[in-house]
Amino acid sequence: MAYKSEPIVACIGLGSNLGDRVAHLRSAVNAIQHLGASMSVSSVYESEPFGVGDDEQPIYLNMAVSIQTKLAPEQLLAELLDIERANGRVRLRRNEARTLDLDILMFGEHLIETSALTVPHPRMHERAFVMLPLAEIAPHMVHPVLQRTVSEIAASLPDQGVRRIGSLDAAPAQIPFTNPV
Ligand code: AMP
Repeated sequence: MAYKSEPIVACIGLGSNLGDRVAHLRSAVNAIQHLGASMSVSSVYESEPFGVGDDEQPIYLNMAVSIQTKLAPEQLLAELLDIERANGRVRLRRNEARTLDLDILMFGEHLIETSALTVPHPRMHERAFVMLPLAEIAPHMVHPVLQRTVSEIAASLPDQGVRRIGSLDAAPAQIPFTNPV
């Protein structure tokens, strides 16, 4: 069932800090491609685990994609949860290490507040690991709550030690890649 006859640009944040992180990101990008058209894909970034207390956790790889989709936001979320499960995501505790985390960052300029979904994602604008990749692919999109563009928000963030490491297609050698899709 389509949401609208006109597609909407959905922005999705991806993160992985467990297992073969590049393989999980590649698998997710390939799967998300089937949920719409005209996908844009950011570079891959490295970031320290955020808000995880004293638990030692591996470094995250993060990226963002945008896609023009006719799915309703709830349908898009269901598809993303399926993709997480297909990549071995198990939810036990909040903020634990995860094979794959997919968040709907923005859905056009729609505001969504349901028991299952808050869009724009409520913490996206504070996080460099979200905003830096997003600014590559959707710099002019306007955050409908803050009424600022993605690039303005990204530029206003303090340095959080997030590093751009390259494109997913040319995944650097130091990133394990044993399970190409
Ligand atoms: P997490 O553990 O961060 O992956 O949380 C996933 C759950 O957060 C999903 O099952 C959704 O019901 C809920 N959720 C609320 N807002 C969003 C959003 N914008 N994108 C993805 N999940 C969301």
